[in-house]
Amino acid sequence: MGCVACEHCTGECCHYVALAIDKPTTQRDFDDIRWYLMHEGVIIFVEEGAWYLQFRAVCRNLRTDFKCGVYETRPQICREYKATDCDYTGGDYDYDHLFTEPEQIAAHAKKHFADRRRKSRATSKSANGSKKRARPATGKAAAR
Ligand code: SF4
Ligand code: SF4
Repeated sequence: MGCVACEHCTGECCHYVALAIDKPTTQRDFDDIRWYLMHEGVIIFVEEGAWYLQFRAVCRNLRTDFKCGVYETRPQICREYKATDCDYTGGDYDYDHLFTEPEQIAAHAKKHFADRRRKSRATSKSANGSKKRARPATGKAAAR
């Protein structure tokens, strides 16, 4: 905070905490995320392949005039956050994925595992295919 845009903003960036989480790989991981999303104010987003959990929580240092109450000693993360592309000035983020409801992650998990099964079937088919082609070639070579 502390720029022209911040003068007009109500401290959007001071109203939440976002934490990196492991990329889900198992049914249990996706189910845990579904549970996170059952809570008010929680969203999950994916940015450049990295997964984050974000929850609404107003910083205790945000003053009623929406200025930072500890500006001089504010944490590094607040110093690095730039108003040139922030929650107020940046508009919609270009998320890979944004999940706000438990049903969305359940649907995503369903598709994820269906795609994985399809890929695994395709891989094993192609592996079997090369084995099949290999046999007659070996046979011919042996007959010569
Ligand atoms: S969201 Fe952007 S404009 Fe608003 S206080 Fe934070 S950095 Fe400033
Ligand atoms: S410390 Fe200040 S700048 Fe950082 S989140 Fe809190 S109010 Fe905002």
